[in-house]
Amino acid sequence: MSGIRPTGFLHLGNYFGALRNYVRMQDEFECFFMVADIHSLTTHPDTSQLKHHVRRVLAENIACGLDPDKVALYCQSHLRETGELYLYLNMLAYKGELEKTVTFKDKVKLQPENVNAGLLTYPVLQAADIIIHRATLVPVGKDQEQHLEMSRNFVKRFNHRYGEVFPEPRAFNFGNELMRVPSLDGSGKMSKSENQSATIYLADDDDSIRKKIMKAKTDSGPTKKNSPKPDYIEVLFQLMKLVSDEEVVKKFEEEYNNLTIRYGDMKKKLAEDMIEFIRPIRQRVESILKDDDYIRDVMVKGAEKARASAEVTMDKVREAIGLRYY
Ligand code: AMP
Repeated sequence: MSGIRPTGFLHLGNYFGALRNYVRMQDEFECFFMVADIHSLTTHPDTSQLKHHVRRVLAENIACGLDPDKVALYCQSHLRETGELYLYLNMLAYKGELEKTVTFKDKVKLQPENVNAGLLTYPVLQAADIIIHRATLVPVGKDQEQHLEMSRNFVKRFNHRYGEVFPEPRAFNFGNELMRVPSLDGSGKMSKSENQSATIYLADDDDSIRKKIMKAKTDSGPTKKNSPKPDYIEVLFQLMKLVSDEEVVKKFEEEYNNLTIRYGDMKKKLAEDMIEFIRPIRQRVESILKDDDYIRDVMVKGAEKARASAEVTMDKVREAIGLRYY
């Protein structure tokens, strides 16, 4: 189970942190993936563009390889049962631990004028989203590790107080480690809404990709053989490892180590490989977005599958808590 907020265009971080794993999981597991529209309201109260973003994120999920016939692909707000579970979990979540959450503290700094209770209880709603399907594996990027730890704590408290209903969920990646795709300038991570000029989006056209990469900071090159790479150069290598062939990366690594590297050539190659990677995804998104009936159909069927799973869980939850009076 996992989700992505419809707060803007999806980017390489979403792809390599989340979507790539979703696509691999769909053949091995029973999967639930959602567009986290309610979560987006904690930071994006203006809903004038919400419909447009929800449809796009859904199309981007499919364009990256998710098959709505194999998984439940749905909108968070279409699964009303989650609201009920969130309410019960709130009684097991403590103000102190919520206030200490790193993402909460970051967002308080970003939007001091809108520190709403939804922002504080974001990890509680996220836990409800996950455990409503009694999910165990949650494909997410590294930034979500702490939230998953909180989900496990809520589950342990629920099971301890009311009896075993939920398995403990954990962050999942097919590789050894959770991913963090850095921004092109090496100053942070790629993001939907911050640092947009240093983020590569799945919707970027060939020219924008080329411009963003060619503009990336470099220097006059290493002066000592086999020296460590500065952050902004490391980023270029990291991105190249994601989209270029192994031999290409190896060639530039060798050139770096023996001081013959020309960053201009490296960026040109990275830009071309990135364009080849993004272009087919962008084109598929554009064609899916033209088909309103298909998008509606995906949402309706996805919500039905999610509801069937949630109803079973909520029966167990109400029974375990002791909310049956006759
Ligand atoms: P969000 O964009 O915050 O809705 O996150 C959706 C998914 O993408 C989550 O699983 C995140 O962990 C993942 N994600 C977002 N940004 C990055 C990034 N720069 N690197 C790796 N994963 C990311």
